[in-house]
Amino acid sequence: MHRFFVEPDQIQGARVLFADAQAHQIARVLRLRPGDQVVVLDNRGWQYMVMLETAVSPQLIGTVRNRAAAEGEPRLRLTLYQALLQRDKFEWVLQKGTEIGVARFVPLLTRRSLVQTAALKANKQARWHKILTEAAEQSWRGRVPELAPPVALAEALGAAATADLGLLAEVGAERPLRAALHGLPTSPTEVALFIGPEGGFDADEVAQAQAAGVTPVSLGPRVLRTETAAIVAAALILHELGEMQ
Ligand code: SAH
Repeated sequence: MHRFFVEPDQIQGARVLFADAQAHQIARVLRLRPGDQVVVLDNRGWQYMVMLETAVSPQLIGTVRNRAAAEGEPRLRLTLYQALLQRDKFEWVLQKGTEIGVARFVPLLTRRSLVQTAALKANKQARWHKILTEAAEQSWRGRVPELAPPVALAEALGAAATADLGLLAEVGAERPLRAALHGLPTSPTEVALFIGPEGGFDADEVAQAQAAGVTPVSLGPRVLRTETAAIVAAALILHELGEMQ
């Protein structure tokens, strides 16, 4: 069944109003008809079974049949601090990371990042939010992952200090990822994961991370491209901590 995240004001009592792009998608692209059902998510923890009443874009109305707690959210809150990358690769990380269960994305500026914020202005955040929303709908997430504005590494390390566990993927790090995940007295519920740019983190940045309590970890002897490393590390963390069964 098709799933749609809506703004809170689109749900008015037992009525759901779809407009513009969503109405177009429902009526014209998916060709759904009155009587068809869709799942609507309010991004606040509820999902609604909704029957379409009218199917005329640009305004389309549905009726709520029932409401249930939204499923699909991992208990583990994983924040991915991803060094900025070429546009299509960064967007791929946002999409795949959403599918596997990343809770929050923070674009990261590092010394060797080829992409810097200047090139990032304009409607990037809106475009990225759309990618996250569509991926969350497609993958049956209960919420759209959060997207933070880009930050420099020092600031990100400060913010990550509130997590139960901070990890930085570094080629050749002594500690395997798995050991870092299981070496704690209690299983972490908030994990911060740092992935470097194509050129990697420099030695200073790794030292800075360590000083902030973030552990450098290895993903094995093969060097992965940054976007591969992001998805592999995120999936391994979610898997090891019991979120992929
Ligand atoms: N030439 C760079 C390669 C960077 S790979 C270097 O030697 O550091 C890009 C990013 O992906 C890295 O910064 C790291 O975060 C991650 N990564 C790739 N392969 C990895 C591995 N085997 N172990 C840990 N992190 C890895």
